[in-house]
Amino acid sequence: MEDCIFCKIINGEIPASKVFENERLVAFNDINPKARVHILIVPKKHIESVKHLEEIDKELVGEMFLAAQKIAKDNNLEGYKLVVNVGREGGQLVDHLHLHLLSADAII
Ligand code: 5GP
Ligand code: ZN
Repeated sequence: MEDCIFCKIINGEIPASKVFENERLVAFNDINPKARVHILIVPKKHIESVKHLEEIDKELVGEMFLAAQKIAKDNNLEGYKLVVNVGREGGQLVDHLHLHLLSADAII
């Protein structure tokens, strides 16, 4: 989608430090980390937010959590936080669905 920062990262227009990628997902380090480890897990499909999820996205959402589990393990995180902000009032600044993976020292 035009003018979406995360779509631009996905199509390579904007650089990001990627830690994981497959056909459906990409994960990269947050540019303004709120914890020692702060990674964003992002579907390649442009979905605005949790509010915009549809039945067809069920498997994709599950895959986001499994990617988070794998990335946390790769980073030797014993405990961690998974956060999804929804809507402006919920603290969502980028209108492309993403899962925050934060190490336990997070300031949130
Ligand atoms: P939200 O507030 O929408 O849940 O989270 C958006 C996150 O995206 C923020 O933590 C912010 O630091 C991060 N972010 C915004 N723009 C960029 C960018 O261009 N590159 C990267 N790597 N992260 C970004
Ligand atoms: Zn997008």
